[in-house]
Amino acid sequence: MGILEVKGVGKRFGGLQALGDVNLSVQEQTVHAIIGPNGAGKSTLLNCFVGKLIPDEGSVLFNGQSLLGRTPHEITQMGVSRVFQTPEIFGDLSVMENMMIPCFAKRDGAFRMHAFESVDNESELIEKAEQMLIDVNMVDKRNMNAASMSRGDKRRLEMAMCLVQDPKLLLLDEPTAGMARADTNNTIDLLKEIKEKRDITMAIIEHDMHVVFSLADRITVLAQGTPLVEDTPQNIKDNPKVREAYLGE
Ligand code: ADP
Ligand code: MG
Repeated sequence: MGILEVKGVGKRFGGLQALGDVNLSVQEQTVHAIIGPNGAGKSTLLNCFVGKLIPDEGSVLFNGQSLLGRTPHEITQMGVSRVFQTPEIFGDLSVMENMMIPCFAKRDGAFRMHAFESVDNESELIEKAEQMLIDVNMVDKRNMNAASMSRGDKRRLEMAMCLVQDPKLLLLDEPTAGMARADTNNTIDLLKEIKEKRDITMAIIEHDMHVVFSLADRITVLAQGTPLVEDTPQNIKDNPKVREAYLGE
């Protein structure tokens, strides 16, 4: 059984069937990419994992527990974090101040997160945040204003803010959208490092096939709201159905 098990998920928006009978199993400690043309339902599916949307039918289990009907913060507490298409950081604050946001959320009791259970004073929180910045190679930018950084560094900071919560499952919706090639490559390297160093599973939606084929262990191709095929990257590349439906050949 996978860390994330999606069974028979369907979602309609009025008359539009955005998702229909989606079955998907994400295995622990793998990177599972979900690809497909614009409007295929990728973001809708991800939104069903994080409490932003409730499917009309089907089930979504994380570690055997249903995610449906839970609030986004409950889902975060269970160990599922999400990285957005546009980095969700606070531009007016410094890098370190941004890092302290998920940490203080714990201290102030808004969240009770597993990652901070053994931490009981502010200096330990700061230490944990600093260690995370070292891990993502940003500690030298700790006092920089977040708004002034490159898109790649903003993404790096956002990732660090997620990772400091020790998620078990990281969901990424087009993490390199709109990035210059150099920032895209930095993001690929960062995700590879995260994959190697941490006990983490990733489900990634991505348009850029260079990113997908650099990172993914498994790929699901979504077309018109339904998985067309799930396979290894090599088999996906060679699959004539995929070439026709998605790669446009
Ligand atoms: P993708 O992320 O694969 O590009 P989406 O999941 O964003 O696709 O969208 C799938 C389909 O559902 C599209 O036709 C889109 O227009 C529609 N859709 C998505 N969100 C909504 C919504 N909140 N209300 C109505 N239609 C939506
Ligand atoms: Mg989308």
